[in-house]
Amino acid sequence: MWGVKNRNKTISLLKEFVYLSEKGTPLDETFERFPDDELGVLLNRVVDVYTNVIKRENSLSAAHEMVVKESQDQIRQKKQLTQNISHELKTPVSSICGYLETILNNPEMAPAQRQAFLRKCYEQAQRLSSLLQDLSVITRMDEASGLIEKESLNLSEIVSEAVKEHEIAASAKSVSIINELPDGLVIKGNRSLIQSIFHNLLDNAISYSGGSEVRIRLLGRGPNELQLSVADNGVGIDKVHLTRIFERFYRVDNGRSRKQGGTGLGLSIVKNAVLIHGGSIKAIAVKPTGLEFRFTLEIIPVQAKS
Ligand code: ADP
Repeated sequence: MWGVKNRNKTISLLKEFVYLSEKGTPLDETFERFPDDELGVLLNRVVDVYTNVIKRENSLSAAHEMVVKESQDQIRQKKQLTQNISHELKTPVSSICGYLETILNNPEMAPAQRQAFLRKCYEQAQRLSSLLQDLSVITRMDEASGLIEKESLNLSEIVSEAVKEHEIAASAKSVSIINELPDGLVIKGNRSLIQSIFHNLLDNAISYSGGSEVRIRLLGRGPNELQLSVADNGVGIDKVHLTRIFERFYRVDNGRSRKQGGTGLGLSIVKNAVLIHGGSIKAIAVKPTGLEFRFTLEIIPVQAKS
């Protein structure tokens, strides 16, 4: 029998439920359960279904908000990158145009001066070419990182080759490259990206450090990774720049980097390449002076013998 007390309570709760559910308001713990009779049991189930629907809706809209925010961030970053790229391309292009225009407008120009202008044009064209090369590496890493093929690579050989390739530039700056990696280190990776990690780090140590040596070491081996270090004993960089030097187009000393042919993309390529290889990288100030890059690279896990 439906008692008067239960009936009144059911009706008043039902009115409250209708009012809240019409507004889509979630029910909190203060919303009482319906009385434990036949109708009340059914209504409590309706309330539970409503609560679940609201919960699902809220988590879906939170996920949607996150996706929207992420895509807005991506759009902002892309816009920033495009602005930086066009700025970086404009400088060498307008300088090439300027030199060529002067040569064309002055047919009587002294041959030595013409030669000097042409050399400057050539330098700027080379700058453009390295910018385009770096940008194509970055685009490949951004847009198709999942498609980058990895194979078993002899890291020790790749590093030895990179050292050989940099020896002439290093000795021109009186820098010794000391490669302490043992033979036979094998990683799982993409050859050209791994080459670009060592190429950029050696290039930078030779161009910017002003030190007398750059040392490549194996710091340790984990079950899934190698821990590596490339360190120089040069001037290093101020602490405030340490975390920012991996950003695209970030330069510590704008004028100096451009003069040395730097694109401002080298370390961002290094960082992305390390990330694509399941690793991480950080820059550390060396005491008393110098700059060290510590990073990890994924290895092929050793199969347990059965
Ligand atoms: P860039 O293409 O201009 O060389 P990078 O991203 O490779 O750009 O490097 C960013 C900046 O970090 C450089 O402009 C340079 O000022 C600084 N830098 C990088 N490596 C070193 C180093 N070994 N010693 C001192 N400064 C460095």
